[in-house]
Amino acid sequence: MKNILFLKPVFKTMIWGGNKLATEYNYSIPGDNTGECWAISAHKNGDCEIRDGEYGGKTLSWLWNNHRELFGNAQGEVFPLLIKIIDAKTDLSIQVHPDDTYAREQEQGALGKTECWYILDCDEDGEIVIGHNAKDKEQLTQMIRENRWKELIRVCPIKKGDFFQIEPGTVHAIKKGTMILETQQNSDITYRLYDYDRLDNGKPRELHIDKSIDVINCPHIDQEVRGKTTSSTDSDIEELIKCSFYSVDRIRIHGEQEFTQEYKFLNVSVTSGSGEIDNVQLHKGDHFILPYGYGSYYLKGEMELIVSHI
Ligand code: ZN
Repeated sequence: MKNILFLKPVFKTMIWGGNKLATEYNYSIPGDNTGECWAISAHKNGDCEIRDGEYGGKTLSWLWNNHRELFGNAQGEVFPLLIKIIDAKTDLSIQVHPDDTYAREQEQGALGKTECWYILDCDEDGEIVIGHNAKDKEQLTQMIRENRWKELIRVCPIKKGDFFQIEPGTVHAIKKGTMILETQQNSDITYRLYDYDRLDNGKPRELHIDKSIDVINCPHIDQEVRGKTTSSTDSDIEELIKCSFYSVDRIRIHGEQEFTQEYKFLNVSVTSGSGEIDNVQLHKGDHFILPYGYGSYYLKGEMELIVSHI
């Protein structure tokens, strides 16, 4: 029995969100400030339903709890990954995530967060924040206490197709005009370091300066990303990252090719173009899981996919 588990995304309205999830991805969004599409998620704050088929209407968390065999009997209380598409119309606040050890001790047993970003699209002069310029914790603390944000925060130019790994302890922020596909640990623990002195309903949003200083890595070191690319006449497959929480690859199909699902499960997001999997239509914006033991499958068409597995 071959099940392709298509998911129905959950949308989040954010003060920094826009409408590109409708105009670029054809989703019906709740409003003009839609910041996030939780595309493959079993998180309690946005638990995706299966779109159709045998498990139609069940949530991903229900499947994880009741049909673990679909996920190769993978261990863990929660489905381990969360895939989002983010549309940042304005700058997001500058933040940092704890690792599992810090989160377990300080956040009632929560998971830390490692995440990675694939730039789907950005403005011509697009930028992101990644890392900082302090040489050690002492200098970091001093620069924060003296509000020397311009000096401290490291801003980098970006372009469509770039990829970044954000380890716990990495200062980061998405800036205006950027759409990204984020693959992350299933966690929501975020410490806000700086919000550009903006006001939200007349008041600044809460900051978490002490916890941020606790967890920020000093000095910042850029993570190595992008491994080998395997090309054939019908596809290019590029390793984007392999870390202890996930592996993420980009598959570009321009023709037809057979693949084998050899992981506990495989998350797939169609990020551009259209085509088919095993004669089922695929469009930009579709997200699905190929369960354990799915075996061989055919991809056909002109499309770009971002796939991930544990
Ligand atoms: Zn983050």
